Amino acid sequence: MAASQEGKTVLAFETPKNPSAWIEKRVKKHGGGIDRKAAAKLAERVGSDLRRLDSEIQKLVTYVNAERPIQEEDVTRLVTASIGANVFDLVDALGRRDGRRAMRELHRLLDLGESPLGLLAMVTRQFRLLILVKELQEKSAPAPEVAKTLGQHPFVVEKIGGQARNAGAVGAHLRAPARARRRRQDRRDGRCAGARRAGGGVVRLTKPFDIDQAIRLVREAVRPFPKAAMFELAEQGFASPFEQLIACIISIRTLDEVSLPTARRLFERARTPQAVSRMAVEDIDALIRASSFHENKARQIQAIARRVADELGGELPCDREMLLSFPGVGPKCANLALGIACGEPVISVDVHVHRVTNRWGYVSATTPERTMAALEARLPREFWIEINRLLVPFGKHICTGNRPHCSTCPIRDMCRQVGVTSYR
Ligand code: SF4
Repeated sequence: MAASQEGKTVLAFETPKNPSAWIEKRVKKHGGGIDRKAAAKLAERVGSDLRRLDSEIQKLVTYVNAERPIQEEDVTRLVTASIGANVFDLVDALGRRDGRRAMRELHRLLDLGESPLGLLAMVTRQFRLLILVKELQEKSAPAPEVAKTLGQHPFVVEKIGGQARNAGAVGAHLRAPARARRRRQDRRDGRCAGARRAGGGVVRLTKPFDIDQAIRLVREAVRPFPKAAMFELAEQGFASPFEQLIACIISIRTLDEVSLPTARRLFERARTPQAVSRMAVEDIDALIRASSFHENKARQIQAIARRVADELGGELPCDREMLLSFPGVGPKCANLALGIACGEPVISVDVHVHRVTNRWGYVSATTPERTMAALEARLPREFWIEINRLLVPFGKHICTGNRPHCSTCPIRDMCRQVGVTSYR
């Protein structure tokens, strides 16, 4: 709703009863259309933060260019889940006793700069709500009454209700001994852990894994695809440690298609620590608005620029400890900046490098940090910088998160397909 106050327009959003219907109306207002499933997906990803919903809607309408309705896959591609939604996913994974997923969600949140204590408080609050909803569900209280009793929006209660029904599911831990038995049997039979396929089949490896050969084949396979964002930016001349670090922060939980133009937009205005440090957080935020969690990132970018300009003589040094000391900078961004801008042999492990190298069976690690340590111990140094440049497009287009393209993958003969249960 818009109101006028002393000549200024103030946008005030009231929490709607039905977020999907609100989204459909809002999309129409921005000159676009959206199908039902896409509206529900958007409501699920963003929750009831109407300001963020409105900004995501504008981004989606621009993306489809009002030439067709926004579809579910557009939302999946462009809209990252909010921190609240991530905490929801973390609690969901804990409730289902899915340790691997819980660790993944936790690291995602930590990479976004959330404080461990703040996260603990959010998880505790979410569990408390979940227990209360579960108790009320067991007393057969209708959903509107549950919402009223807990002072929550009905949409939130509906989501927690689904989670409460799943929490405490015992299937996962009952299956664990069977999995352990299968792993022991695999070891006795000389098979790699994870080489079993869904449906009882076993991956047949016709060649041992050869990293030199794999890198050669992946180089060829990714040739037609766009380069990983940071490498592309470096080729376009944005190759200083400061530019690479800032671009990497912008790219966190944001598609390359969005982060590349967003980083360029900021650098057109200011590309040195001194220039960025003179900008207000609001101005930085306006320029990087298309990126996920832009408000947090704008604050982090200004803080980094000010520290470099005021305390480090305006030059960001190629020093890993120093890079890691900045807000919002995790091992992935520090290593990318060191590798691309400083030419230091370091391995940057993002979701793609983590997923692909574990599927190959080349390493076996539960988190990107452990994958990094395992790769440092095994991967020849000559590939340390290149592995990220190759596996980002390989992971985006061939070894995709869901249903990878194994049937046409050039390294299928030597890949153990660990954890792959279905493929194209
Ligand atoms: S696409 Fe399939 S075969 Fe290729 S690397 Fe990924 S899991 Fe292995």
